[in-house]
Amino acid sequence: MNDIQKEFLDILADVRAHVEYQRALGIKTIEVNTLDVQTVRAQPAAVTVPQEKTVVAAAAPPVAKETAKVMTSAQAGRPMTLEAIREEIGDCTRCKLHTGRKNIVFGEGDPKAVIVFVGEGPGFEEDQQGRPFVGEAGQLLTDIIEKGMKIKRAEVYICNIVKCRPPGNRNPEPDEVETCIGFVKEQIRAINPKVIVTLGNVPTQNLLGTKQGITKIRGTWQTYEGIPVMPNFHPAYLLRSPGEKGKVWEDIKMVMERLGIVVPAKESGARSQESGEKP
Ligand code: URA
Repeated sequence: MNDIQKEFLDILADVRAHVEYQRALGIKTIEVNTLDVQTVRAQPAAVTVPQEKTVVAAAAPPVAKETAKVMTSAQAGRPMTLEAIREEIGDCTRCKLHTGRKNIVFGEGDPKAVIVFVGEGPGFEEDQQGRPFVGEAGQLLTDIIEKGMKIKRAEVYICNIVKCRPPGNRNPEPDEVETCIGFVKEQIRAINPKVIVTLGNVPTQNLLGTKQGITKIRGTWQTYEGIPVMPNFHPAYLLRSPGEKGKVWEDIKMVMERLGIVVPAKESGARSQESGEKP
């Protein structure tokens, strides 16, 4: 098989995954822009696939269960890109959280990050700015990454289980998680990190499908889709209970060791955490 044939098969696989994805969304009709033969001939082989995406008759908006199906369906094909996932989310109204949000907080960082941090959902500041972990708890997470792990925040990827702020910073409800979780799963699939760090109960329990509490499960290696997961306390909890920062540092050191990142010899991060300061 030559390169063009291989590329053609790749494109077919992409189109197929996309159509299955649309079907799972409940979309029944897709308009295909037909390109006339002249146009096709005028274009190089690799870019002659018609734009298949103009939807003319969409069914009712997908319900929560269908979102889960969408992602299962997408998983049949190749990973989506982060851009495509963001596009798919669109100006989302799939669950009730959309009514109170200012911004969708998709996530940010290096699309090829070796570490993905997963939180539960945006707070007030994140909703205002449309960026994850930029409030007080976010500053603590940033310090753990930059001062503790000695890597730049932009080199990791940070996202949440739900993309819209739950009112009053309550935990996301099961229907909201069910509606949104497919997107974070696709983000993880797109990035394919070497380690995931879950922050608190919500991402830990929902990604791992466990009911175990974070106090018990933290510091123990778990697996999500073949990727090692280190459950850790949520930084907001650390703001309330600074005495627990030493445990977070223990868990972060395990992540660093696994990734071959040099752990500072004197564990300066751990000591400053235990004293209640930021690492
Ligand atoms: N808490 C979270 O879980 N996520 C954020 O983005 C901010 C605070």
